[in-house]
Amino acid sequence: MFAASTYSDRLARAQARMAELNVDALLLSVGADLPYFTGYRAMPLERLTMLVVPRDGQATLVIPQLEAARVHEQGDAFVTRPWGELENPIDIVAGLMAGAGTAAVGDHTWARFVLDLQVACASTHFTRATPVTSPLRQQKSAEELDRLRAAGAAVDACIEDLRSVRFSGRREIDVHRDICSLLIDHGHETVDFAIVAAGENAASPHHEPGLRVIRDGETVLCDFGGTRSDYCSDITRVFSVGGDAPIEIAEAWAALQVAQAVGVQAGGVGVACEQVDALTRQSLVDAGYGEYFIHRTGHGIGTETHEDPYIVAGNSQVLVEGNAYSVEPGIYVPGRFGLRLEDIVLVTAAGPESVSNASRDLMVVE
Ligand code: ZN
Ligand code: ZN
Ligand code: ZN
Repeated sequence: MFAASTYSDRLARAQARMAELNVDALLLSVGADLPYFTGYRAMPLERLTMLVVPRDGQATLVIPQLEAARVHEQGDAFVTRPWGELENPIDIVAGLMAGAGTAAVGDHTWARFVLDLQVACASTHFTRATPVTSPLRQQKSAEELDRLRAAGAAVDACIEDLRSVRFSGRREIDVHRDICSLLIDHGHETVDFAIVAAGENAASPHHEPGLRVIRDGETVLCDFGGTRSDYCSDITRVFSVGGDAPIEIAEAWAALQVAQAVGVQAGGVGVACEQVDALTRQSLVDAGYGEYFIHRTGHGIGTETHEDPYIVAGNSQVLVEGNAYSVEPGIYVPGRFGLRLEDIVLVTAAGPESVSNASRDLMVVE
């Protein structure tokens, strides 16, 4: 939660953006947009919660009566309109939309509500809310950047603790459970994900940790994150079990470290997202690993682990101060091993700033 004025400022900026885009009503339900503007996260329920933001005037949070007590008033940023069990919330939202010509709907809104609204507001043109909300959410305030720094420091501490955790002879899910505990121990409110991939399993970038027993002489990829003070952490490091990694893996890791550093340094105000991807990728191509880097270089991060801006070929969007994103190149050799090195980077006036500062070596564990 932020000060009440933060939410009214954000809503005012959304309304300015709506005017630019000719959007008459902004409709936000489940997902990360609603808490960004209200401090309230809607439960994913069959009962509709929806913030109705007109282009001019006050926003109204239409909310099931039984949920209303969970809403924290944010000054006069918005008013609430609790609805009882016998009311039809679609009619209430349609009434508040007051014949809007164009309505922008949050991307995560359940289809059943969108479809019902389309019937109730037959003359309204519906579009996605992302063009309204994303530019705002991408440009983090000093306070938001501080929360991302704190989240980054928290996962750095988890990595440090993992160095003394036993890997050899234990299953991926055992280490997974250790990571989940560490995330909470280091101040996260929630664990969002914890990938543990041993040996050849790591060749699948989003491997689901399972019963596979970790053995000496293998590398283990750990990619995890949680939410701390509403902002997400995300880090990937690779551990070498029982001694130094085989030469083939050590050489690939050295190339990955270079590429990842290139990617971090490439960022900054005025640089296109696709340029960060291209430079990172070229570094791996030059080292002979291009064909093994099978995904984009990174994703934006904030109150969601994956959000705009995406660091990917074709995204000509230019970075601005306040952007936050991952730089996470990987090398995936099917049937053999997988490596990824991931830091979260902030775009500041002084240049790119990594909030992830844990060792970037292949760390030897027992
Ligand atoms: Zn991922
Ligand atoms: Zn990531
Ligand atoms: Zn990650």
